[in-house]
Amino acid sequence: MDETAHTSVYVLDRPPAVTYPALTEAAVSDIAIVGGGLTGLSAALHAVEAGKSVTVLEAYEPGWGASGRNGGQLNPGLKYDPSWFLQKLGQQRGQALVDFAWSSVDKLAEIIARADIACDMRRNGTIRAAVKSSDIAAVQASQQDMQEHGMPVDWLDRPALAKLVGHDHYQGGFLDRRGGDLDPLRLTLGLASAASSAGAAIHGSSRVVSLRRDGSAWRLTTDAGATVMAQRVLVCCNGYADGLIPSLRQSLVPVFSSILASNPLPGNLADRIMPGRQSLYESGLVVVYCRVDDKNRLIIGGRGPMRPVTSPSALRHISLHAQKLWPELNKIGWQTAWNGRVAVTNDYLPHFHELGDGLYALYGYNGRGVALAVALGQPLAGLLAGESKPNDIPIPPTSMKRIPMHSFWPLGVKGTIAMSRLKERFRG
Ligand SMILES: Cc1cc2nc3c(=O)[nH]c(=O)nc-3n(C[C@H](O)[C@H](O)[C@H](O)COP(=O)(O)OP(=O)(O)OC[C@H]3O[C@@H](n4cnc5c(N)ncnc54)[C@H](O)[C@@H]3O)c2cc1C
Repeated sequence: MDETAHTSVYVLDRPPAVTYPALTEAAVSDIAIVGGGLTGLSAALHAVEAGKSVTVLEAYEPGWGASGRNGGQLNPGLKYDPSWFLQKLGQQRGQALVDFAWSSVDKLAEIIARADIACDMRRNGTIRAAVKSSDIAAVQASQQDMQEHGMPVDWLDRPALAKLVGHDHYQGGFLDRRGGDLDPLRLTLGLASAASSAGAAIHGSSRVVSLRRDGSAWRLTTDAGATVMAQRVLVCCNGYADGLIPSLRQSLVPVFSSILASNPLPGNLADRIMPGRQSLYESGLVVVYCRVDDKNRLIIGGRGPMRPVTSPSALRHISLHAQKLWPELNKIGWQTAWNGRVAVTNDYLPHFHELGDGLYALYGYNGRGVALAVALGQPLAGLLAGESKPNDIPIPPTSMKRIPMHSFWPLGVKGTIAMSRLKERFRG
């Protein structure tokens, strides 16, 4: 099936009005960015604002990748709790990362306001829900850890959580008041438009097929044979990394995550299903996430087939899960379905590498990149502008490590999901 088809609710609502032309001639700029998602476009915006010339090269259109088709949930922080980072990275480095990652939604909100991006951002909080009673201890330990670090994260007992979500299947959970949601495609296109207005050269339909050192600069060549010479380069292709840097592609697993959007809920149901309008993600080995958007549609996602999905019929397991939580959904029907590639790394954390003199790569948000990728635009721009060093990036620089037996990842992912589902059943 054609992976270029993009059937998300965001595209169906408002197809992008602007297309960015392919690069057709030789260009020279201070900075070249490969990949027109949130990481690349936020870095581009901040770098042009710092007075640098920037060229962004995107294989399809800005927002075509995960950035324009994700769940739209704003989830502060990373996969592990703050104390884990302090222990692992030491007080200073760990605290810097915790401060940065857990305030990413605040930083995103500032950038959206400054660039005046209309993307329906709401800050009603993000809930982590314990699905089984055996999950409560871990979810509560996370809440306590964040609270001990002064974060506004409250425990919700079963009745309190039931009020916010409209059913009593969950055992309890926490509410992080800093979280929220938005339309991710509008956010990504808004960043592209802001960067372009500030002077960045943004090119769609421009896949970079070669990247090599040429004298004191980097030469990037596109599939149309056009070139960019740049002093510094940021590669941010995330789950869509192709053969441009083979070792980069082999250092992550591009796991598909799938999403269903319901038809708009009628008034009585819109008041009953997630009336608090928080974003929510479940505990468990196979994570389900959901929210009700500003058009009263339930947007619910999770693992699905490891191939492109364009029809709700391909995601029956997700619709059945939703109907178990809210049986009234039976009568509503699903408007659309889609999926995209999440970059999963071996430690479930984002990775930042210096691959050569002035050549950098950042990827691997493991499903939590919306706020973090945009927030990282500023420090990345400082580095690309030559004003800071790799160690100043909040994600500590590491050397790239290929995942062993990488070519077998589809089998590995299928096996892991099947095993996790089986474990879930027995945990129940
Ligand atoms: C279905 C789904 C649901 C998700 N839900 C959430 C969520 O609710 N909340 C959250 O925080 N995160 C979520 N994520 C993760 C989030 O979307 C990503 O972390 C984030 O968008 C990463 O942005 P990026 O710019 O690094 O990568 P991307 O947006 O994937 O952009 C990479 C771009 O690189 C381009 N590219 C690749 N190779 C080349 C090349 N050789 N030349 C030129 N261009 C190239 C691709 O075309 C692509 O557009 C989800 C992801 C998916 C797929």
